[in-house]
Amino acid sequence: MKFTEEHDQLRKTVRDVVDKEINPYVDEWEQEGLFPAKTVFKSLGNLGLLGVTKPEEFGGMGLDYSYGMVVSEELGRIRCGGVPMAIGVQTDMATPALARWGSDELRREFLAPAISGDAVVSIAVSEVGGGSDVAALKTTAVKDGDDYVINGSKMWITNATQADWACVLCNTGEGKPHQNKSLIIVPMTTKGVTVSPRLKKLGMHASDTAQVFFENVRVPQANRIGEEGMGFMMQMIQFQEERLFAAASALRGLEGLIQETANYCRERQAFGAPLLDNQYIHFRLAELSTEVESLRSLAYRACEEYIAGQNVTLLASMAKLKAGRLSREVADTCLQFWGGMGFMWDNPASRAYRDGRLTSIGGGADEVMLGIIAKLMGNLPKRKK
Ligand SMILES: Cc1cc2nc3c(=O)[nH]c(=O)nc-3n(C[C@H](O)[C@H](O)[C@H](O)COP(=O)(O)OP(=O)(O)OC[C@H]3O[C@@H](n4cnc5c(N)ncnc54)[C@H](O)[C@@H]3O)c2cc1C
Repeated sequence: MKFTEEHDQLRKTVRDVVDKEINPYVDEWEQEGLFPAKTVFKSLGNLGLLGVTKPEEFGGMGLDYSYGMVVSEELGRIRCGGVPMAIGVQTDMATPALARWGSDELRREFLAPAISGDAVVSIAVSEVGGGSDVAALKTTAVKDGDDYVINGSKMWITNATQADWACVLCNTGEGKPHQNKSLIIVPMTTKGVTVSPRLKKLGMHASDTAQVFFENVRVPQANRIGEEGMGFMMQMIQFQEERLFAAASALRGLEGLIQETANYCRERQAFGAPLLDNQYIHFRLAELSTEVESLRSLAYRACEEYIAGQNVTLLASMAKLKAGRLSREVADTCLQFWGGMGFMWDNPASRAYRDGRLTSIGGGADEVMLGIIAKLMGNLPKRKK
């Protein structure tokens, strides 16, 4: 990956806004269980950071995905997991399909405000009955005149209590489960849409997560992204950016935690010497740093191939898997080296331990990534009919 001055400038812009407008408030937002998405997104939107890879025609910068990856990477400097995840939902999870396949009218109405930061958005795929098996989802959108009438519900939806619209994956037909789905934009103020109170979670406290219910929700068929029945395929492609975001946004947080842990262990004395002088400790931190650099290389390579127009399902799945596994390993190891301090609620290792745990579950669990990798290796057993 060859970074240019433009990439460096973009990195600096993200760092500045994170340092001035996000990090000073993160502890407060974590405590409250909510960050003010509208205010934060407007600041990011004003700097163009919500549409780096999106078409210029709708307010984006029209840059290639390497610039998007630089933004994702620097968002990892935010001192919690919930806020970068919520931003990633806006930029890399709920809007890639709309940007690529949405009609011009749909992009003007919904993508442009998501890019400018005037709208907060959600991606609604998972359901109470299951998130991993996307093909088995139950929410339906049935045609009635020029509209769809949507019934069902979605579970664990990030940004849901603050969102202006959601990109919802629904069954729009009776056919095969991979060919009967569509992605539909649903404004959250539409009659029949209700949102549960915020769900109480292990981590990611600054980010709101809620259940969304659809009861006879009527939206125009024109709100469908692209062709009917192509939603599953579009969501699988949209997942590529989600997974690259997950990998890239993990990097800075992990290296920051390793560094903070080394600093602490340098100061902390035990048995007449700094903790860091124990070979086990400085070797483990060296090993973890090496692992983070390997993840970076994998994410960068996936990004290069994505820019070149290649199918990056394999590399993006590997990067997401590695990010999940490594988030757990780094947080657990660092927490251990902080000892009792690591077990305290506000300790950085403790927060990383809680927040980072989601990476192995959300956006495709580790086992789902392993399934994709195994399939692409040609090693999955044939399903019995
Ligand atoms: C904080 C948070 C935010 C989220 N945000 C969103 C959001 O914005 N939008 C959205 O649509 N969803 C969101 N999700 C949902 C998330 O994507 C799902 O939780 C995830 O896809 C897993 O689905 P599930 O929880 O139903 O687990 P299940 O599908 O029930 O799977 C449970 C476990 O079974 C194992 N497993 C699953 N499949 C296999 C397999 N093939 N082989 C072996 N083991 C397997 C895995 O260990 C998995 O963790 C969010 C979840 C959380 C917790």
